[in-house]
Amino acid sequence: MNERLITSLTNDTVKAVRALHMRKGREATGQFLAEGLKFIGEALDQGRAPRLLLVGQDARPHPLLDRARQETLKAGGEIVIVTYPILEKISRRENPQTVLGVFDQAFTPLDAIKPDSAPAWIALEQVRDPGNLGTIVRTADAAGCGGVILIGDCVDPFSVEAVRATMGSVFAVAICRTSVEEFLSWRAGWPGSVVGTRLDATVGYREAEITHPALILMGNEQAGLTDRLAAACDVNVKIPMRGRADSLNLAIATGVMAYAVTDGV
Ligand code: SAM
Repeated sequence: MNERLITSLTNDTVKAVRALHMRKGREATGQFLAEGLKFIGEALDQGRAPRLLLVGQDARPHPLLDRARQETLKAGGEIVIVTYPILEKISRRENPQTVLGVFDQAFTPLDAIKPDSAPAWIALEQVRDPGNLGTIVRTADAAGCGGVILIGDCVDPFSVEAVRATMGSVFAVAICRTSVEEFLSWRAGWPGSVVGTRLDATVGYREAEITHPALILMGNEQAGLTDRLAAACDVNVKIPMRGRADSLNLAIATGVMAYAVTDGV
């Protein structure tokens, strides 16, 4: 039999999956949790089968679920059938998804990035909010950007909350992490424009002359883009604030920039 049934909330596999809610648990295993058949489908389309496929006892038959079962086993993964209370406990919410997957994390090394493979890339300095990061990964995918580079002390892109906000795009774009120093020396070889975003910039976001591939730098939610990184940009731009708000939410500003820079390319 290729599938085993788990009914105990204290089962070791259940405990191990629940530990993926904590950074410590994710770092120890190099894995993360993705919830829902849509996510599993996105992963399979990118050639990423789950290590562990958890299927609720009441999960409805679906062709994608059949495919997930087949590809999980083919890749050497495991399938477990679990009860509804276990799904609730693992996902930590009411009305949990009935299919969950545990996947290996995949960070792309900075020097493996091929800048010309996309018209734009996004770099984030010290992003702190997992919902913002997940939304940015999703937006980068939607706008056709190659990936998201995390500079300095950023929130974990593989936290359950960040992954949820990606809506599956976590499997579609490159995710890199780097220090400020490593980023600055790598940036020196960037073939296109490096565009910073600052509230004190004097150039409008549609006025700058951009050479593709563009590298768009976004700052931290509270502190903004630091002087050090802004100074490393070819140009810093501002999105006009026409009302009383003094800034845009980071993910919204990234979306505006990603589309402005990739439009018509
Ligand atoms: N108090 C922070 C500051 O002074 O920059 C606000 C940070 S804002 C919430 C987060 C990031 O979103 C900024 O660092 C910048 O990258 C981007 N951003 C938000 N509004 C922007 C705007 N109007 N023009 C350019 N970038 C903006």
